Amino acid sequence: MSELTHYIDGEHVKGTSGRFADVFNPVQGSVASRVPLAGPEEVTAAVDSAQRAFASWSALNPQRRGRILLKWVDLIGQHRDELATALSNEHGKTFEDAKGDIQRGVEVVEFAAGAPHLLKGEFSHNVSSGVDVHTLRQPLGVVAGITPFNFPAMIPLWKAGIALAAGNAFVLKPSERDPSVPLRLAELAVEAGMPPGTLNVVNGDKEAVDALIEEPRIQAVGFVGSTPIAQAIYSAAASRGKRAQCFGGAKNHMIIMPDADLDQAADALIGAAYGSAGERCMAVSVAVPVGEATAEALRSRLEERIANLRMGPSLDPESDFGPVVTAEAKQRIESYIAAGEQEGAELVVDGRGAQVEGHPQGFWVGATLFDHVTSAMRIYREEIFGPVLTMVRAADYEEALRLPTEHEYGNGVAIFTRDGDTARDFTQRVEVGMVGVNVPIPVPIAYYTFGGWKASVFGDLNQHGTDGLKFYTKTKTVTTRWPSGAKEGASFVMPEGS
Ligand code: NAD
Repeated sequence: MSELTHYIDGEHVKGTSGRFADVFNPVQGSVASRVPLAGPEEVTAAVDSAQRAFASWSALNPQRRGRILLKWVDLIGQHRDELATALSNEHGKTFEDAKGDIQRGVEVVEFAAGAPHLLKGEFSHNVSSGVDVHTLRQPLGVVAGITPFNFPAMIPLWKAGIALAAGNAFVLKPSERDPSVPLRLAELAVEAGMPPGTLNVVNGDKEAVDALIEEPRIQAVGFVGSTPIAQAIYSAAASRGKRAQCFGGAKNHMIIMPDADLDQAADALIGAAYGSAGERCMAVSVAVPVGEATAEALRSRLEERIANLRMGPSLDPESDFGPVVTAEAKQRIESYIAAGEQEGAELVVDGRGAQVEGHPQGFWVGATLFDHVTSAMRIYREEIFGPVLTMVRAADYEEALRLPTEHEYGNGVAIFTRDGDTARDFTQRVEVGMVGVNVPIPVPIAYYTFGGWKASVFGDLNQHGTDGLKFYTKTKTVTTRWPSGAKEGASFVMPEGS
């Protein structure tokens, strides 16, 4: 069994905590490697190294930093198949989906490479006689990212790409369930020309996270994961005076209006609900058909498509989706299915007990469909994070709109309709951060920003796009009077713009 490391100061480091976690291959259902879990000592070493690297990295002009980021993109591209294979083997998502995970991260690094433009400040000439004002966007220093298991390439790249472009040094604490790809990305960053220490990886669990939050030299914490942890980390980081943006869980709805193209809607739902075994924060987990006729027609289309779904090994090109990440995740998802039955929802397709030939120990959960779910049920209110689609029938548009609007989470939502007025009204009134019109998973492109509302986020700026740059920089405003300006003598009143 192989043993993974931390990556600090451009070196693989074993760590001294003596604690380890098993990393599984979910298709085999067996331990593939073990990863060291950092304590305060490893975190201090990573921050020491990042602090040193910050001096030289932040002193480079942004165009040179951008070039190194583009070289990183190039190296990631050259190693894409190797990275995607490692990602599939630890996460369980299919090889094609793993390539998408990498690509959506790379796109943000490409955007961030435009740092010379993105970091430009503002300038106002002659705000008073002989007085000019300009702003600088300066890096924060050493910043940290704490990321979830479900996008082990994309989310580290979203966070590190923007933070590094802005001139910060970055300490990444990836998920302990699939740490190999983040480690490899950090190695490639050094190969691309980043000074060692600019991007360090400390592996670990709560103990490493606590040490990062306690570390006074960490200026900002970017977190992505489940809502209870997001909320706790936001409070802990903010109370220590750090910037924090913490993205949490989701329960994404898709509204299907009677005028929608139902085949298109059913195809979209199947991909969005069961792709990556439902382990996406933008997965659709609630289908809301409007009207009984729509519900019946949609249900029969879903049943037909589910029967043809191919769950299988992640690296088999025939597989539509793979296993879930751990035995614990499988157990949690299956207990939600049992809860749905007990609560009185109709279990139309039951994914429990599903098997894949040749892989009897794999963490398999088959595609599951519930109908006649109500907003009072736990399977509706809570995030299941597995291949479970719940159908809540709405009598009319207003009832359908209320469901995502009143739900505790507000990450993503979609409406399928051919009617422009309905779509426009929906996008205006729904209380959710990312909205798709005939697009089931509306993950914004790199140069827009990503973020939900309500319990899906703690903090006030989104990820990537221009918000990302704002989060990872501080604004300095400089007011300059030139010596040749009017000489007024000492003044004892507040200066005004007039
Ligand atoms: P998680 O909350 O279990 O873990 C996320 C990170 O926090 C990991 O690095 C983990 O090591 C660390 N962590 C876990 N428990 C901790 C604790 N008690 N104290 C401090 N740190 C702790 O989440 P996960 O299972 O890895 O990922 C799935 C979750 O992430 C889902 O809820 C999903 O919706 C969410 N997610 C959200 C977004 C978004 O942008 N809103 C994107 C992807 C995933």
